[in-house]
Amino acid sequence: MVQRIEKIELSTNFPIGPVNVYLVFGEKLTLIDAGIQTEQAWNELIAGLRLFGLTVQDIEQIVLTHHHNDHMGLLQWILEKNPVPVYAHKDTETYLADEAYMKWSGEFFDRLFVEFGLTEEVAEKWAYRKRDRDVLAGLKIEKGLQEGDGIPGLPGWEVIETKGHSQDHISLYHAGEQIFICGDHVIDDIHVGIFLDAPLPGEQRAKPLIQYIANLKKCLKLPIKITYSGHGPDIYDISRFIHAQFERTEYRVQRVKNVLEKGNATGLDIVKKMYPERYKKGLITFVFEIISVLDLLMERNEIFAEKQNGVYVYSLI
Ligand SMILES: [Zn+2]
Repeated sequence: MVQRIEKIELSTNFPIGPVNVYLVFGEKLTLIDAGIQTEQAWNELIAGLRLFGLTVQDIEQIVLTHHHNDHMGLLQWILEKNPVPVYAHKDTETYLADEAYMKWSGEFFDRLFVEFGLTEEVAEKWAYRKRDRDVLAGLKIEKGLQEGDGIPGLPGWEVIETKGHSQDHISLYHAGEQIFICGDHVIDDIHVGIFLDAPLPGEQRAKPLIQYIANLKKCLKLPIKITYSGHGPDIYDISRFIHAQFERTEYRVQRVKNVLEKGNATGLDIVKKMYPERYKKGLITFVFEIISVLDLLMERNEIFAEKQNGVYVYSLI
């Protein structure tokens, strides 16, 4: 059976522009992702469904690619009108709805940001933002998904874990028709951002850029004819994107090394040297980028870190 997939674009107030949600007309009518929680996006969703002769009541299940708020924002309003099962990565419920994890996450980032070189005050301000933004108390994920799982109501589709952009990121793959629905794992012509999530209690922090590179390589091995991304146009040649992403990553790696060639530096020093003006606006995006690049350089044995007065100072080996 040929898979019918339709895209609906929903506005966001993020620099990346609109987010794509998808309708997959499987055994069950499935909505992939759920936009941002604004009246405008809600109206666009209703209008988009109407184009296909549908309403919110016709949606039979929802799959989330990851927990970021431009991908799950309208979930609450949809479920209020039509309480359908929601499927997502097995850890998504924790990231979205577990109060104890939110508290731990704030404490974790507070510590991490101080070690990176931020002042206590700035660290605290940024560390607790995530909790305030994302908590969705009471959300129940019907079934937590992992690599290789099938998806109820969508025969022929399987879950490909694509951690890196977030720690609960999944993509959906239809091997028969070589279709890939990939959330923010790949976005045409855009350097995909790497975000950190606090580890689950008892676990070590993941090294997201290292995971991301491994998961891009995994995708290079999948036969894929068309990729439906969480943002921007459909992608017909995913390998071209993946190689471009590798190049953009190596460019950033080299820039960090260039800073360290001039002398030892804290993470924050590196951010300021690389983005002297821009860093003030989107500080945490840059902090995450540099932490993930430093992880990669540590893994490659090109740098080492020494803690001085509670802050890590990095040097080239
Ligand atoms: Zn995202």
